[in-house]
Amino acid sequence: MNLKIINQNQTLATWKKILRSNFTQVEKLAEFLCLDADSKANILNKSKFVLNLPFRLAQKIKKNDLNDPILKQFLPTLDETHITEGFVKDPVGDSNCRSSAKLLHKYDGRVLLVTTSACAMHCRYCFRQNFDYDVSQNYKFIDELQLIAADETIHEVILSGGDPLSLSNDILRELIEKLENIPHIKRLRFHTRFPIGIPERIDEEFVNILYNSPLKTWFVLHINHPNELDDEIFSRIKRLQNIGVIVLNQSVLLRGVNDDVDTLVKLSELLVDHGILPYYLHQLDKVQGAAHFEVSEEEGLHLIREISKKLPGYGVPKYVRETEGEPNKTPI
Ligand SMILES: *Cc1c(COP(=O)(O)O)cnc(C)c1O
Ligand code: SF4
Repeated sequence: MNLKIINQNQTLATWKKILRSNFTQVEKLAEFLCLDADSKANILNKSKFVLNLPFRLAQKIKKNDLNDPILKQFLPTLDETHITEGFVKDPVGDSNCRSSAKLLHKYDGRVLLVTTSACAMHCRYCFRQNFDYDVSQNYKFIDELQLIAADETIHEVILSGGDPLSLSNDILRELIEKLENIPHIKRLRFHTRFPIGIPERIDEEFVNILYNSPLKTWFVLHINHPNELDDEIFSRIKRLQNIGVIVLNQSVLLRGVNDDVDTLVKLSELLVDHGILPYYLHQLDKVQGAAHFEVSEEEGLHLIREISKKLPGYGVPKYVRETEGEPNKTPI
């Protein structure tokens, strides 16, 4: 009996154990960051979209500084309670392009699979924080695979969520194998922020799944500030690049986080130095509670003009907004 328990522990992947050390209670995080009474008074103690912050990211946050660019992205604050006109629950109209519980078909040629509601972290500005996730714990994707197989115009499947890397390797392997059996599917894409919080997720088994897949695989990471990055993260990403995965990054333009030329230039340089292409800089989606993150499009355009003077052409992301009903992300 003892032996069985030991085996179970051994098979629990390292990254799942690490995930358990995430901060999920604001009091504990406040203590860890030595926040003073004034700062603590700004914390929103009860939020529906709860605190979720990997320990490793928390270690990069400056002590007692609510303006830290990482902390700003993850700490629930009273700012979220302000009601701002135009900021709504579903700002991008996801609910109108839902073909099934887990499939979004908004743009030609590609579909987005909402694989899970779980993430390695909770970003306060997340446009999908109110999404009515299918939380049935059914990871067979039967309806979705049927819809994809029936539509020959679809060539790419985007695994998103939530964060697709929240799923186990077994679930991902099964899903990918089923996608491989659909002849018109050529490309597989992951939209993930997991490696920033728990880079250990890019483990050998996962890399092998992708290595063995005939699908061309793309990764779109989500990094907003250079402080989120470090050598361990780059070395895990390199394992993907080594097997031919193309790695891109998307950022959201966020007030007080990355709304300045130096930060955006530093981020792009760090990315391209590691072979990661800056893909999109997103205008904030107007989700309820995130108005304090908004940067005007005028400011955003100014930032793009300024960083263009300092970066190689491939280091400048496309500045886009998502407008309901448009056939693609709209360049600003
Ligand atoms: C953003 C998005 C995509 C991908 O768009 P690309 O411009 O190809 O990166 C696909 N489906 C949905 C629903 C999206 O929101
Ligand atoms: S990781 Fe992505 S899906 Fe998850 S909360 Fe952050 S922005 Fe939203």
